[in-house]
Amino acid sequence: MEPTVAEQEYLESLFWLLEAGLAMTGANLARAMQLSAPTVSEMLGRLERDGLIARDSSRTISFTEEGRADAERLVSRHRMVERFLTDVVGVPWDDVHEEAEKLEHAMTPRFEAFMRAAIGDATTCPHGHPIHVGHRIDGVPLADCAPGASIQILRFENEAEDLLHYLKSVGVEPGLTGQVLGSDPEVVSLTLAGRETELTTSVAETVSVLANPSPPPRIALPEQLVLGRERYGR
Ligand SMILES: [Zn+2]
Repeated sequence: MEPTVAEQEYLESLFWLLEAGLAMTGANLARAMQLSAPTVSEMLGRLERDGLIARDSSRTISFTEEGRADAERLVSRHRMVERFLTDVVGVPWDDVHEEAEKLEHAMTPRFEAFMRAAIGDATTCPHGHPIHVGHRIDGVPLADCAPGASIQILRFENEAEDLLHYLKSVGVEPGLTGQVLGSDPEVVSLTLAGRETELTTSVAETVSVLANPSPPPRIALPEQLVLGRERYGR
């Protein structure tokens, strides 16, 4: 049975927590989706009855096999639609999330197949997340990189629209390469594609990069920075 649109949104959000290395709990889900605990709890009950998730005695959530397959398919489709909208339609990458959210629930499988063909060999969404969800490259937070490190922007872990607008305005974009010039608790300054720029350290926490030399990897991204006040994207 096909999950309802509401169920699909929960599955996508749960998968996002899993990918980010955050605990799959009702509390994290409520924060991530900007919904109240009772609302989330009711929907989790429905997902459990429908055989898409399971919960253990400490209320930690896990996907069933079916739930995980659905979540992976939905997340992959969302990223593919985003890529289609930026590359084929010309929607700016900091505006694409909302449009993708509407479109992805209104497509026939046939249209989806045309869309997949249209994006060619693109492997990520415009924010750097893999369209084939198993192919996530490990990165480190930009905020952790030492001055002098060579970097390549890998992905934006938090796709909240206000963050994306900010990142675009300071010229930070997945795929760009450069070097960290300096970093303190307030600001990270760097060159990207030959241009000097800076961004706040709190936002640099949410930007994953490949770095050389690379700082030690973190176990998980800091929750308070990944889960923004606005509803995050994927
Ligand atoms: Zn995206």
